[in-house]
Amino acid sequence: MPSHLDWIKEELAGLEREHLRRFLRRLESPQGPEIVLEGRRVLNFCSNDYLGLAGQRQVIAAAAAAAERWGAGAGASRLIAGNLGIFTELEAALARLKGYPAALLLGSGYQANLGLIPALADRGDVIFSDRLNHASLIDGIRLSRAETRIFAHLDLDHLESQLKPASNFRRRLIAVESLYSMDGDIFPLPELVALAKKYNAITYVDEAHATGTLGAAGRGGLEHFGLGPEVDVLMGTLGKALGSFGAFVSARREVIEYFINKARSFIFATGLPPAAAGAALEAVRILEQEPGRRADLRRNARRLREGFARLGLPVPKDEVPIFPVIIGDPQETLAKAERLLEQGIFVQAIRPPTVPPGTSRLRITVRADHTSEHLEALLEALGSKMMNSKL
Ligand code: PMP
Repeated sequence: MPSHLDWIKEELAGLEREHLRRFLRRLESPQGPEIVLEGRRVLNFCSNDYLGLAGQRQVIAAAAAAAERWGAGAGASRLIAGNLGIFTELEAALARLKGYPAALLLGSGYQANLGLIPALADRGDVIFSDRLNHASLIDGIRLSRAETRIFAHLDLDHLESQLKPASNFRRRLIAVESLYSMDGDIFPLPELVALAKKYNAITYVDEAHATGTLGAAGRGGLEHFGLGPEVDVLMGTLGKALGSFGAFVSARREVIEYFINKARSFIFATGLPPAAAGAALEAVRILEQEPGRRADLRRNARRLREGFARLGLPVPKDEVPIFPVIIGDPQETLAKAERLLEQGIFVQAIRPPTVPPGTSRLRITVRADHTSEHLEALLEALGSKMMNSKL
């Protein structure tokens, strides 16, 4: 019997034909350098838990303690009855980490971009967006109803050529990521800040992957470039290097007050689970007081860079924990990911629409708690004949 939902089956079949269908893979262990994936112990080279904090004992204990002290859920949105004390404590810690006067928590990075961007720009405004911006930035921009200009990835000249004729718009906003999650490259923030000043534009920087990974202490892109709080709106997440869940925005106090009043994904959503806030607080403490983890991540990134160079694989320009190996064709990429898995290495095949068509890739991420044996096993698998032959 035909049904009004038959088109869904056809959509899935279409994705399957193009090798773009996605499936969930089940972990039977916590996040870590070694995981149990569908019954098999494998090395994990595709998490965003860069510092290994998701499974860290003190972070887990802090999550449990926060749940004991504050309960399992916030019970309401922050503006109604859900503004638990632990949230303001975490906001103060995050503002300090980023070097800003104030910060505001949001439910997730996705929610943050969906709520903050439309609060800043509307019809009559224009948003300049790097071509490789994350889906959540793109969706936030769409939701804003502002006009959009897409500039080539990291291309400041292109951006300037678009800013020049845009003085007639009410507001201009430039949205970028400081560390690009799929490419491992860094937006030149000092030039961004200078251009924004010249053309009277608001700067919006997503630090989902930069928080905990860039800068000597892991404070992010501003620290990496030796900048002060010169970006207007600096968004970060708690679910990647900080090992927890949620997101935050750092800005001047009146900007934060404005978001409390205008960012719909903040106003109309329940506060974070207290356990997530407790874990993030402890993660920030570790980042600030135990520089060893950041140093371990840097050492592992350096080791992998050396290994990649030895194998003739492309090495990221900067010392970052993200190593894309671009294959191009999605089917080929899936096959290579499967071959790696056969050798006990878990690396996901990243395909459109996460990355542009024709640029499917293996996105390899290194963690602070990978051992040199883990890295050697990865390099050996990447260098094996099976990996380098075509399908
Ligand atoms: N921005 C970027 C650049 C991201 O990579 C991600 C996560 N993939 C997000 C935002 C969304 O963050 P979250 O997972 O906290 O929703």
